[in-house]
Amino acid sequence: MPIATTNPVTGEVLKTFDALSDAEIDTKIGVAHSQFLKYRSIPMSQRAEWLLAAADLLEKERDRFGELITLEMGKPIKAAISEVEKSASVCRFYAEKAAEFLADVPIQTEASSSFVRYQPLGVILAVMPWNFPFWQVFRFAAPALMAGNVGLLKHASNVPQSALAIEEILTRAGFPPGAFQTLLVGADQVAGIVEDDRVKAATLTGSEPAGASLASITGKQIKKVVLELGGSDPFIVMASADLDQAVKTAVTARMLNNGQSCIAAKRFIVVEEIADEFIDRLVEQYKALKIGDPMLPDTDIGPLATPGILQDLDQQVQTSIQQGAKVLIGGEPIRDRPGNFYPPTILTDIPKGCLAEYDEFFGPVALVFRVPELESAIARANDSPFGLGASAWTQDEKERDRLIQEIEAGSVFVNGMVKSDVKLPFGGIKRSGFGRELGREGILEFVNVKTVWVK
Ligand code: NAP
Repeated sequence: MPIATTNPVTGEVLKTFDALSDAEIDTKIGVAHSQFLKYRSIPMSQRAEWLLAAADLLEKERDRFGELITLEMGKPIKAAISEVEKSASVCRFYAEKAAEFLADVPIQTEASSSFVRYQPLGVILAVMPWNFPFWQVFRFAAPALMAGNVGLLKHASNVPQSALAIEEILTRAGFPPGAFQTLLVGADQVAGIVEDDRVKAATLTGSEPAGASLASITGKQIKKVVLELGGSDPFIVMASADLDQAVKTAVTARMLNNGQSCIAAKRFIVVEEIADEFIDRLVEQYKALKIGDPMLPDTDIGPLATPGILQDLDQQVQTSIQQGAKVLIGGEPIRDRPGNFYPPTILTDIPKGCLAEYDEFFGPVALVFRVPELESAIARANDSPFGLGASAWTQDEKERDRLIQEIEAGSVFVNGMVKSDVKLPFGGIKRSGFGRELGREGILEFVNVKTVWVK
């Protein structure tokens, strides 16, 4: 994939970049490694000051950075600005909490003193996706930098200006040269970076194949890796649910980010008793969404990020239809305008064996499944290769407890949509990956948990 900014509204290539050469990558890794040897001793209070300065910059220049995000990947401008604000919030969170999270933990043994100390690992490579181009990077960078690690970013090839802007923000905030660098490189250059002895660990947010590929390299190198991969999150609606809230949230939970979110609700699992009403209301609300230029403040749905994403989604929908799924609205790309536009789409009557049962649909397509009762709702939710998040709607305490206990996922949100919160750990199980970001768990991923025992 060329490293370039291409406007997803028009298809126009706005700016292209050359990938770094092997020699340039080697120099940058060298700078990162030498910086780490000094940076790890910088007091936490100083790192926090820099991170707070980064949060200030993000907040002050939220409009400019929001426009850059929208320009490169097409999400509605309001959502892009919120993403910049959320990126500031993760910087503030770790600036404030890292010292507490990483404090020595005393443990009583027969020694005169024994405790756990958390120490940084070194240079960490972050391979990141385009869908939340600021948020995904800051949720890695903020804890990593607070823990005393240094970062190298390989961002998605379609958001190079966002990648460069993030390095610039952290540099302007005061972080020393080499503490955080953007590498403009292609996916084929990732292996060489991970194999370098000076790079100690890696994290990847993205698709399953990319995660599997990185994990095989880190596996060979015996290096720590965190994988935040895809999902096909269930959104379960029981008869006792507050239907107004459930339908309203079903719209946001599926359409957020033009449908391109790992934790978007993708499979709507609805009990028979209320299924007709839920579906009718969903159709009505999806029809009311405004599709158009994402730079306009009243646009609900902009274009998909790339022609490739549009093509893949179209192919999945067409195959599902051929396999027997029924289209209620949408169902094919918008062809009377340029850009990667795809309308809100609902598929129902998805037969056994249809790819819509198990694939991740990365765009504004809701897959609806009817089930007779709770038991089959849970079974349907768990019948997926993924296990990222789950949203469940019920007012019944017994149902709630069973859903919390039996859903196989990294998170369960009851009567709310799945969302990331800086205070709560975030991540998946099964083919959605492993490891956690955010919360205390997030900062502990890239540290040496050192046991100290003194007689
Ligand atoms: P992607 O194609 O996997 O790309 C993600 C990143 O990985 C990009 O920087 C990409 O670089 C790089 N990459 C691709 N193939 C690679 C390989 N073989 N080795 C090393 N790096 C590789 O994913 P995407 O299509 O951009 O993002 C959508 C996917 O990400 C969805 O499945 C979504 O659910 C998932 N996602 C998960 C989370 C989460 O937190 N769990 C969050 C957001 C998105 P290039 O751009 O240069 O190819």
